Amino acid sequence: MFDDIIGNDKVKEILSNAIKTNNILHSYLFVGTEGIGKSIIAKKFAKMILCVNKDKETCNNTCEACVKFDNNNNPDFEFIKPDGNNMKIDQIREMNSKVMEKPIISGKKVYIIDDSEKMTKEAQNSLLKTLEEPPQYVVIILICSKENYLLNTIKSRCTKIVFDNLSNEEINNYLRKNNYEILDNNFLNLSQGSIKRALQVISNKELYENLEDLVNNIKTVNKIEFINNNKFLYKEKEKIDEILEYINVLIYNQMKNSIENRLNYINCINIVEDTKKRLKANSNYDMCIDNLLFGIWEEFNEKYSRS
Ligand SMILES: [Zn+2]
Repeated sequence: MFDDIIGNDKVKEILSNAIKTNNILHSYLFVGTEGIGKSIIAKKFAKMILCVNKDKETCNNTCEACVKFDNNNNPDFEFIKPDGNNMKIDQIREMNSKVMEKPIISGKKVYIIDDSEKMTKEAQNSLLKTLEEPPQYVVIILICSKENYLLNTIKSRCTKIVFDNLSNEEINNYLRKNNYEILDNNFLNLSQGSIKRALQVISNKELYENLEDLVNNIKTVNKIEFINNNKFLYKEKEKIDEILEYINVLIYNQMKNSIENRLNYINCINIVEDTKKRLKANSNYDMCIDNLLFGIWEEFNEKYSRS
């Protein structure tokens, strides 16, 4: 049923069984890292729920509901995304009133709320009313990557389906299937089990290669060379969050393979974390990068030779 989607076999089995046994619940909470296929699986699940063919598995777009679903005009389905940074109460109010209208083609109506952690508290409280007494034909699927942003009262009313990060092999399978270059282990580790991140890595490959050089060369170049080699950081203000995240991953990977210098690596991670805090507090960008570069270089060189 979900054969064309890579990864999360356990989840796919649970949802396939729900379809086969016609045991669809009123509300689901799909939880897991960003970019691992939650919304793709949710949409496929919704399509299967709404399919009006007697044998849903072999329908293959021969029923009205499936055709309209693929054309994004199935009236019994809605995919709700945050309007801007937050999902506001008006969006949920609108949904609440539509929920009361009976389905048109299928026996059910499906609502997917993407990035549901972006619902404001008011929006969540408004949704709660529908979750407490949903019309019999309604299915609501909340998609969420940061579960702690949801009210407990919301979570307790949904059946939780936990999605796993993808394995490196699954990520490369996806990339191969979609005609992207496959990634080596180091880049796969940077992707941390998320297709979204893997695609970011591919589109920023040169930048990430520069970051690998940065971390690999901390101990082998002098201070001036180190600063000169890494001047690109001063021009990447917009990507600095990702960059710092990846520097940490790289440092951590090196630390795992190094018996010596463990403390230096830990201190470096602290320096990166400190840089994140300074940037959040709106410190001068160039000065933050100066501190970062000097800090991690000195950690492995001046301090090291002193001890
Ligand atoms: Zn169908």
